[in-house]
Amino acid sequence: MMNKSCLFCKIVEGTVPSDKVYETKEVFAFRDIHPKAPVHILIVPKIHLTSLAEIHEKNVTILNPLFLAAVHLAKENGILDRGFRTVFNCNPEGGQMVYHLHLHLLGGRPLGGAMGA
Ligand code: 5GP
Ligand code: ZN
Repeated sequence: MMNKSCLFCKIVEGTVPSDKVYETKEVFAFRDIHPKAPVHILIVPKIHLTSLAEIHEKNVTILNPLFLAAVHLAKENGILDRGFRTVFNCNPEGGQMVYHLHLHLLGGRPLGGAMGA
């Protein structure tokens, strides 16, 4: 379940500090250390999965609480109606740097047409 060498597992455990904004039984959310927008939150499952590439029919439901948290946090941060973006970066060419599945929630400024986060 936990991966001892994983940064985001350590953040979930609390052994690496983070600016936590939300937690449930299944997910943990904290502010990105290098925010690319006024609101830039990372939403992670407490269970260690490396990336979206590990999702299959049996575990796809793990994504539901990530999206629920994104909507909750968009509302809480005043960007639900203004607009926001959710992004999974997956594997090297997808720009993934940390190999623990995470959903970026970005907003608070016009994000433009580019898909990049
Ligand atoms: P990725 O490129 O893997 O989709 O995104 C990883 C994100 O994690 C980056 O936006 C980066 O700024 C953020 N990040 C990396 N290390 C830390 C950290 O120690 N704490 C926090 N809060 N964010 C981090
Ligand atoms: Zn992990």
